[in-house]
Amino acid sequence: MAKPKIGIFGMTGCAGEQIVILNCEDQLMDILKVLDIRSFHTAMSENDEECDLDIAFVEGAVVQSKEEELLKEIRKRSRLLIALGTCAVWGGVAAMKNEVSREKLKDQIYGPAGEIFKSIPAQPLRSFVKVDFSLSGCPMEKEQFLQAVASLVHGDIPVLPKYAVCTECKMNENTCLLLEKGELCLGPITVAGCRAHCLSYGIPCSGCRGPVEEANIASEVEILKEKGFTLGDINNQLRTFAAPAEAIQTYFAKR
Ligand code: SF4
Ligand code: SF4
Repeated sequence: MAKPKIGIFGMTGCAGEQIVILNCEDQLMDILKVLDIRSFHTAMSENDEECDLDIAFVEGAVVQSKEEELLKEIRKRSRLLIALGTCAVWGGVAAMKNEVSREKLKDQIYGPAGEIFKSIPAQPLRSFVKVDFSLSGCPMEKEQFLQAVASLVHGDIPVLPKYAVCTECKMNENTCLLLEKGELCLGPITVAGCRAHCLSYGIPCSGCRGPVEEANIASEVEILKEKGFTLGDINNQLRTFAAPAEAIQTYFAKR
């Protein structure tokens, strides 16, 4: 059976997902046995920019019109398009301040040199093209990527947890930082899959994987307000990784 043709692409981000893929050191040879990687600019000097692809893996947010064009080209060439990482799935850190004019941000950061960037408000991939499957995380978890590849190679859509980080935190028998210590933890509304890494080191969840399905933002905000946090504190934390998420937009639009 022919190996599926794969492209691995990056929009704007820290290249974290591409580094996670390269960091699959023990599995890389096995990956190459089952995938025909045609394009991976971070890792290969010869890339096929025109062939049809079975699967395109795309990380990063779209923040420039040329990225929008590139993404649409990739979509046309690909049977499946998979969004990797929180920037690609939710807009990530780049989308945190979309309400501030891009011109103002460019001016403050780059001064006159900013003119060369044709910047647009940062958006996740699904704002521009159909996305067949999303794997969030900042960066994504290596094990989830490998499981996703295994499922895709067998023609299946990967299965991801549909519960919140809180569940993994409880399974690790951690003390609850929100209820017991009054810290600003977004575990109750953040999608699981990281095995509650931060909580197991005593660090509250900052929501880097984006909201879980049907996240109850109102309930989380009420608990945090009872613990003494202001709506501004909570808004800032919620917007850090997933500002364009419908649940977050809808909640704050009513305020
Ligand atoms: S510390 Fe955070 S993630 Fe863990 S149980 Fe409490 S609220 Fe949930
Ligand atoms: S605990 Fe929260 S912030 Fe930490 S890796 Fe998991 S989702 Fe991200």
